Amino acid sequence: MSDKLLVIGEARDGELRNVTFEAIAGAKKIDSNAEIVGVLCGSHDLNESAQEVIFHGADRVVIVKHDHLETYTSEGYSQAVMAVIDDESPDGIVMGHTAIGKDLTPKLAAKLETGLISDTTDIVNDGDKAVFIRPIYSGKAFEKKVITSGLTFVTIRPNNIPVLDRDDSRSGEVTGKEVDVKDIRTVIKEVIRKASDGVDLSEANVIVAGGRGVKSAEGFKPLYELADVLGGAVGASRGACDAEYCDYSLQIGQTGKVVTPDLYIAVGISGAIQHLAGMSNSKVIVAINKDPEANIFNVADYGIVGDIFEVIPKLTEEFKQVV
Ligand SMILES: Cc1cc2nc3c(=O)[nH]c(=O)nc-3n(C[C@H](O)[C@H](O)[C@H](O)COP(=O)(O)OP(=O)(O)OC[C@H]3O[C@@H](n4cnc5c(N)ncnc54)[C@H](O)[C@@H]3O)c2cc1C
Repeated sequence: MSDKLLVIGEARDGELRNVTFEAIAGAKKIDSNAEIVGVLCGSHDLNESAQEVIFHGADRVVIVKHDHLETYTSEGYSQAVMAVIDDESPDGIVMGHTAIGKDLTPKLAAKLETGLISDTTDIVNDGDKAVFIRPIYSGKAFEKKVITSGLTFVTIRPNNIPVLDRDDSRSGEVTGKEVDVKDIRTVIKEVIRKASDGVDLSEANVIVAGGRGVKSAEGFKPLYELADVLGGAVGASRGACDAEYCDYSLQIGQTGKVVTPDLYIAVGISGAIQHLAGMSNSKVIVAINKDPEANIFNVADYGIVGDIFEVIPKLTEEFKQVV
């Protein structure tokens, strides 16, 4: 069992990302009795974020504040987090399986000379052992892993482990850790977001994804309207990206993003195996396609055979009445 688990938090534009809370919930699943210590890094005041981390289940929080931590760099963040790990000597470390998590955690694991179970979608207990479930072969199968020695080090795929209820009566210690973050060889000059400023694709609960059937960049507009009504994000097949209907940052699939929203609406997407690799574990899949034989219907929970340019506006109007 684990006495102390470290959860590495993540923020975007100063706002804590949901993956931080999911990682806390994951840590609780590893061992509900463990002390959970949140780690937050940044260059601004993180006290309010630290309170949120405690309200969502952490017992205390360590903040590392330094000018070199304003934006994420693997050098800066690994120095900051390693210093906290050295202080705390945790039994385990948990982080979201995000772009930052995927970059930072292997580096930390290498420094710590320990293993890492990445992209965990669930954690169950077998006696006093935590069993980590993760997809393999592009989501076609799942494997179960246990850690037999060393640190419990895992990343958790966004949108899979429900966050704990926020409880603002919770309290915990918030401490600062001085770290001399130095020798940063990469400097972030500017961050240019290609995707929309709306909901982050990998964390969205609802995704409306368009394929080559959308036919043009203009054709994506009704998809954005539907996504807006549902509070979701817009994604795309590689076919749509290759055809320059949208940016590659929206691509979902084997060579794009892997997503597991509650609702995935595939619009004019044929359902190639490489696309399914990125979305087939979505909780509910709705496919809209004019070809009744399209492969996407084989993974869909609900299928609509029809012209997307007729179906999407109708769906948007209907959802406007109920959402
Ligand atoms: C190594 C490799 C990696 C790849 N990685 C990815 C990846 O990460 N993600 C990915 O998506 N693909 C990936 N691909 C490409 C993949 O094989 C497919 O080519 C691609 O997914 C097809 O995109 P699509 O479904 O939008 O287009 P199409 O296969 O052309 O399908 C378009 C669909 O739209 C329907 N349609 C057309 N008009 C309408 C209409 N008016 N109303 C309703 N339906 C309509 C058609 O019936 C058709 O089913 C990869 C391929 C390779 C070789």
